[in-house]
Amino acid sequence: MGGTIRLFKFSGIQVYLHFSWFLVAAYQLTQRTGVYSSQIWAGYEYLSLFGIVLLHEFGHALACRQSGGTADQIVLWPLGGIAFVNPPRRPGAVLWSIAAGPLVNVLLVPVLYVALSLASQRANESPDLYVLIWYVFRINIALLIFNLLPVYPLDGGQILRALLWFPLGEIRSLQIASVVGLIGGAGLALLALMQWSFWLGLLAAFILSRAIAGWQYAKALVKEEEADRQARLVSTVPESERPSP
Ligand SMILES: [Zn+2]
Repeated sequence: MGGTIRLFKFSGIQVYLHFSWFLVAAYQLTQRTGVYSSQIWAGYEYLSLFGIVLLHEFGHALACRQSGGTADQIVLWPLGGIAFVNPPRRPGAVLWSIAAGPLVNVLLVPVLYVALSLASQRANESPDLYVLIWYVFRINIALLIFNLLPVYPLDGGQILRALLWFPLGEIRSLQIASVVGLIGGAGLALLALMQWSFWLGLLAAFILSRAIAGWQYAKALVKEEEADRQARLVSTVPESERPSP
């Protein structure tokens, strides 16, 4: 947890904030000049983004706990949030732990829509509030779509992996999802180069490194399975027939 500060604890889940978040917040605020009549609204906008990401991560953490897994930390950093979830090694438990995050964004769509309709009726009196809710509504939908991209380790990629786990098993599903993640990450890296975008590049690096880690974990699982099989083979051979060391 280097470089983070403790924010608060809710339902046994400790929330940390990475220091770089402040740098990006300051940068983002300078990018929003002229959108609102006062910069304080740009601050509210950034805090709303933070709130949405936090709710999304709590969706993961609470669903993971519900399915019998462990989840006690959430770290927020400029690329979003990470809920450290460890669901039981069953496809159903993994699917629910991952799907619950984007589901929070789905549930927020009608809530924000109602807020937007109410604010639009008072748009003349408080135009800043209307613009704020309009942006927050769009940010929520953008986050939902982005998270559902089937590129491992994004939520969509992990949902794909959990769905493949049912017919193909734990290892094969992870191998396929990791390869899709590598292809998606490489595509994003190319896009980052073409647009010369630092953030896209950082995101591509993150996706690529996690997809490689997923592939390596799948390899470790293959070895573990092989060792298990060898052990079972030995235990089925009667003691007298085992080669002496
Ligand atoms: Zn998520």
